[in-house]
Amino acid sequence: MDLFYCPRCADQLGLRPPMSTSDSLESTYQRDKYEKHSKPSSSHHVQTVFDNSSTQYYEDCIREAVERGAVQVESRGTNVIFCPSTGRAIGSKYKWGQYADQQDTVVVVKTSDRGGVHAFLKASSQYSGQKCARCGGPIL
Ligand SMILES: [Zn+2]
Repeated sequence: MDLFYCPRCADQLGLRPPMSTSDSLESTYQRDKYEKHSKPSSSHHVQTVFDNSSTQYYEDCIREAVERGAVQVESRGTNVIFCPSTGRAIGSKYKWGQYADQQDTVVVVKTSDRGGVHAFLKASSQYSGQKCARCGGPIL
């Protein structure tokens, strides 16, 4: 079962992943992920796309999320979830290239995998019922 921790508890428990975010576009895998999340394409069933497609913005999002976000501990590793402002879209979800929904939350995955770290978007509403495993408060 996945465990979620709010940003404050994640800090106090030392759960924040000690990752380098300066190389979030280093591997081919990472650059492919960035491509997927920077422009809509009809070849993807589901994809989320950042409104700002610059690599600088994308890397800033990853760094800010890792520094300030909530933490999700799952069997495959630790993810970070960061919502700068609930309801204020920072990107969109597309299905087969067609706009489907707005997204306001950054999710950083594969934080312990140097060549795998990347970010995509979700809607904060998907975490609205999620409570911190330590303090019981909301995670976002
Ligand atoms: Zn907490």
